[in-house]
Amino acid sequence: MIKDYLGKDALANFSQGLENAKASQQKLNDVVTFLSEDCDLVQEAIKHSDGKLYGLPIALKDNVNTKGVKTTACCHILDNYVPEYNAEIVDKLVNAGALIVCKSSMDELAMGGSNLTASTGPVYNPYDTTRISGGSSGGSAALVGSGALSMAIGSDTGDSVRKPAAYCGCIGVKPTYGRISRYGIIPYASSLDHVGYFTQCVEDAALVLEVLAGRDDRDMTSSTLPVPEYSKHIDTDVNGKVFGVIDNVVEAIDNPEIVSQFNQLLTEMEANGATIKHVRYDEALLKALLPAYYLIANCEASANHSNLDGLRFGVQIDGADSAEIMMNSRTKGLGPLIRKRFVIGSYGLFEENQERLFKKAQKIRRLITNQTKELMEGIDCLIAPAAPGIAPKLDGGVSDQLGNEYLIADNWLGIGNFTGYPSMTIPLGFDQGCPIATNIMAHPFNEEMMFSCGYSVEKYSHFNDKKVGL
Ligand code: GLN
Repeated sequence: MIKDYLGKDALANFSQGLENAKASQQKLNDVVTFLSEDCDLVQEAIKHSDGKLYGLPIALKDNVNTKGVKTTACCHILDNYVPEYNAEIVDKLVNAGALIVCKSSMDELAMGGSNLTASTGPVYNPYDTTRISGGSSGGSAALVGSGALSMAIGSDTGDSVRKPAAYCGCIGVKPTYGRISRYGIIPYASSLDHVGYFTQCVEDAALVLEVLAGRDDRDMTSSTLPVPEYSKHIDTDVNGKVFGVIDNVVEAIDNPEIVSQFNQLLTEMEANGATIKHVRYDEALLKALLPAYYLIANCEASANHSNLDGLRFGVQIDGADSAEIMMNSRTKGLGPLIRKRFVIGSYGLFEENQERLFKKAQKIRRLITNQTKELMEGIDCLIAPAAPGIAPKLDGGVSDQLGNEYLIADNWLGIGNFTGYPSMTIPLGFDQGCPIATNIMAHPFNEEMMFSCGYSVEKYSHFNDKKVGL
């Protein structure tokens, strides 16, 4: 927990954090680059002894630009990229006294949900090393889920913080679109990208947002709304809170253990004064979410990454002319999944396909957003299991990609990216020794309510009592 570090000797904390991260790397392969004590980012942080996170060792996903420290997004084309500037959140964290001990592993360019596509190899699940950590922020999730660190930064375009948090047994937060500046984060799909983060408890999550949130003129999508002191505004009483269970998600889950522990949580919250309502999305619309997501995300990604060509950016591979240099650099520097996605994205953006594909996907996004708004009337938070199962095996694939379990229960978290609404994953319990989790989604810019509801979900889940140890 964060408080275990605060108020102690910062350099001793840094050494402890670094040691923990090194041990974690040996076991889980979750770190890409370690920082040393004499790094500017660390030396600057230790000057801020009045900061809210003073002395806290943390990790940053490797798509967060760090001045003077290699930032590869786990993509070979960026193997030699050392940024000349910090992301806004890096400055914020450093000014709050947080000590960056490492850059964490991720799926290549944040595309993927397994962390199997990282240039540095897979990240292993802290609870079972034959299983994935989930992705794309898998390194950060593993570092916090294993207890090596109390906080780590991730990014979330479709579920990349909240899904690995579910698999690794920690809190994963994606606040409202615009709440945290994305300036200096290597983009994926700008209309869906969010900065998110991992902690070990809800109270820590509230404290961290106080540091990260706020307007930044360099990210025109960032909000000018004032940043509340979230950690002081947690209403710990479940009485009076209204939760809306998304029935389509629960019904699409085959795993009886997840459904039973989730229902047990609802029963306990209700017994203590919560109101449990049931809501239902139009099923066809919900099933269209993932295809629409892939189209929008890939179109935006192919545009965002057109600069990764070996000329303007990235490792250059020789060729007879600039076109051949680009082709060689991209063929060599980008993994197969990325290349496939760029092809899909470029196809979606062809003039003749815009109406048929890209705009249709955007219409689906609008319909899902409208329906979410309607369903949430009179409800504080939507709630459902974060994933339909425990972390899959490293060599396991999805069995039925057209079934409801995959299209709905495995991918509903994308609603949070389509709508921009704040959403967080909270550990629920265990199945076969591996974590399972709940996710809640609140109204836009009502993170206070999200943390308040999250506090109750955490309390009545009894995850720490169920914990058997790593
Ligand atoms: N798995 C999703 C994708 O591959 C989400 C990734 C993310 O949130 N960065 O697009």
